[in-house]
Amino acid sequence: ALSHVGGSGFGSVRSGGKVPLGLKRKGLRIVVTGGAGFVGSHLVDRLIARGDSVIVVDNFFTGRKENVMHHFGNPNFELIRHDVVEPLLLEVDQIYHLACPASPVHYKFNPVKTIKTNVVGTLNMLGLAKRVGARFLLTSTSEVYGDPLQHPQKETYWGNVNPIGVRSCYDEGKRTAETLTMDYHRGAGVEVRIARIFNTYGPRMCIDDGRVVSNFVAQALRKEPLTVYGDGKQTRSFQYVSDLVEGLMRLMEGEHVGPFNLGNPGEFTMLELAEVVQETIDPNAKIEFRPNTEDDPHKRKPDISRAKSFLVGNPKCP
Ligand code: NAD
Ligand code: UDP
Ligand code: UDP
Repeated sequence: ALSHVGGSGFGSVRSGGKVPLGLKRKGLRIVVTGGAGFVGSHLVDRLIARGDSVIVVDNFFTGRKENVMHHFGNPNFELIRHDVVEPLLLEVDQIYHLACPASPVHYKFNPVKTIKTNVVGTLNMLGLAKRVGARFLLTSTSEVYGDPLQHPQKETYWGNVNPIGVRSCYDEGKRTAETLTMDYHRGAGVEVRIARIFNTYGPRMCIDDGRVVSNFVAQALRKEPLTVYGDGKQTRSFQYVSDLVEGLMRLMEGEHVGPFNLGNPGEFTMLELAEVVQETIDPNAKIEFRPNTEDDPHKRKPDISRAKSFLVGNPKCP
């Protein structure tokens, strides 16, 4: 029943609600945490193009100034080097909270830091949202479903997550972040939105971040063998980053809390993905099998019917 309780009465222009027809839309002040990263920097481009003022908050753990450098000098753009684990005082209308390493290689690098970022970082950004009455969007993940026993995954599925494994800092961290988000919504009336993002690819992914798409593409270009982990029969479903950004903006501007799966239901085995890369880049690329990482989910595919019913109908974001 919590699925789409939304619009709890704060829908002013200031907090990002719908603007009455005929009135010129006022630019919003928006914070994007993790805005120097892969997804965040594409989101920032769209928000700036729409005429909003954007403050990027990033500690540059995996993000890069190069991703947002083209906005330097624009008075509607600010970049703050800050770690969300520390409190932050700002006056804004909306908070897109993305700060958190997303690649398994990066989030396992310092697991305690990852869980702090997810828990303390999210708490701080919710505290900020509460203080200034801003609308808050959490970028959660399909990892909250763990190694799923339901297929495809619906938002009503509670997941199958190992609480003590090497991926737990990320999966359990995001699950706690979702809990905090709902508790600030119910307890403090904060307007919140939750997106559960499935595997995403596109320009500005770090070439060496260890995710499968960037690995295969980089390997094919360097004439190295494509490293398929395990038997390569595990599946993932990949969406292009611009579709994700469109979904995030529609979710923020819409009336529904979520959670919403944001992803592309096209499902591939990792072997099939390697073949696509061979066909596209280098038919002679070799495939090399490597031992799989611990607790790797066997399959993953979003059921996106909820997002289709509640987000597609929203006005297309300008
Ligand atoms: P990314 O690693 O490119 O970006 C994360 C950004 O957060 C980086 O700029 C990094 O420097 C910053 N950051 C990390 N810890 C921080 C901290 N403590 N304080 C301030 N900044 C910090 O990853 P991405 O792919 O752009 O992912 C963005 C968000 O989307 C993440 O929350 C991730 O969990 C979520 N997500 C992404 C995917 C995907 O496939 N890309 C899938 C599911 C969920
Ligand atoms: N917080 C913040 N910026 C703000 C308001 C709060 O970073 O503008 C942090 C604050 O330091 C605290 C967290 O958010 O650690 C939760 O704040 P809240 O007011 O909900 O709780 P409390 O401060 O009472 O623990
Ligand atoms: N994978 C692979 N070869 C690689 C990197 C990853 O076969 O070089 C597999 C990995 O075992 C997983 C899938 O690709 O089954 C997706 O991994 P990724 O790290 O991209 O994202 P995840 O969905 O695990 O967070």
